[in-house]
Amino acid sequence: MTRDEIKQLLSLTGEDRLIDLYARAYAVKTETVGRKVYFRGLIEMSNVCVKNCYYCGIRRDNEAVRRFTLNTDEVVASALWAHEADYGSVVLQSGERSTEEFITSVEKILSELKEKTKGELAVTLSLGEQTEETYKRWLNAGAARYLLRIETSNPALYTRLHPKDHNFEIRLNCLKTLQKLGYQVGTGVMVGLPFQTVDDLTSDVLFFRDMDIDMIGMGPYIPHAQTPLAASAAPSQTARAYSLEMGLKMIAVTRLVLPDVNIASTTALQALSPVGRELGLKAGANVIMPNITDTKYREYYQLYDGKPCLNENAGQCRDCLESRIKALGEEIAYRDPGTPKHFLTRTAAGN
Ligand code: SAH
Ligand code: SF4
Repeated sequence: MTRDEIKQLLSLTGEDRLIDLYARAYAVKTETVGRKVYFRGLIEMSNVCVKNCYYCGIRRDNEAVRRFTLNTDEVVASALWAHEADYGSVVLQSGERSTEEFITSVEKILSELKEKTKGELAVTLSLGEQTEETYKRWLNAGAARYLLRIETSNPALYTRLHPKDHNFEIRLNCLKTLQKLGYQVGTGVMVGLPFQTVDDLTSDVLFFRDMDIDMIGMGPYIPHAQTPLAASAAPSQTARAYSLEMGLKMIAVTRLVLPDVNIASTTALQALSPVGRELGLKAGANVIMPNITDTKYREYYQLYDGKPCLNENAGQCRDCLESRIKALGEEIAYRDPGTPKHFLTRTAAGN
């Protein structure tokens, strides 16, 4: 698909045309990755963060947030719950930190999980920018996948969303390093950001393609009242409807351009519509990340306002999702790590 074609699809309006776009993407999904949904149990390990991204509710300078960090036993117990519940994979996510203590604790969690699940549980990390050495240590300890959103592929927009000590090139290099080391690499962007244009989103899709990305997680940007970016755009209903629709269009177009990648139907979609994640699956996504963090910590890990499922425990989340997905006529791929087809093809080709 050319740049112009992608931009045209992202600019589509009107219910009939959109239904048609989602149906095309769904047909491609059915053909390439099947009508299967892969679960990744999400564990929010800590909201302590050294970074200060202008959009994020747990940024360093937000003094209204009560900070928490799970101990390694708590993380391992949650991950083992997911394994028992037949999830093929978990995601360990947290604010960014690079102290030796933090690096070692992640290593400890990874090796314990490898041993206790006999390597059956695929572990994804989403722990921000780290050195090559750290990424290597975590890979050696048992991590297989890494999620690091580029947030936007437009360096000028990236600069407007972050303070001066954040650097687009560093983030980009982290993605390249992860790929070089042999991780399955996921990235993504926020959709509906202030100052973001359809041209930017078009470039984002091309970025995923040119970077040979295996997994994509895109979500609508949702303002958090205690952040500097929230002042840039009031969270109006129009803005929310735009972000939801554009989020779905981005999923559909990404599926058309990159048929064999894994695409997440993110929780931020659910924050904008009670059936947001189902709509994401219908637009071409094939991964869902049920939150399995202990409910007593969830309210302190709010990247944006209106995070859904704050009070549902992991078992309730599983049951709720199971019935929603069955109603769509899709199958949940239990006990399957769901390695992205794109990764298998890419590595077989020696890339
Ligand atoms: N600290 C790590 C992982 C946690 S943040 C990191 O930054 O990579 C995970 C993701 O949450 C970010 O990549 C960002 O895309 C998303 N996020 C943060 N604030 C958000 C907001 N206000 N609306 C939607 N997504 C947001
Ligand atoms: Fe920290 Fe990630 Fe939030 Fe940025 S987006 S402030 S790195 S948790």
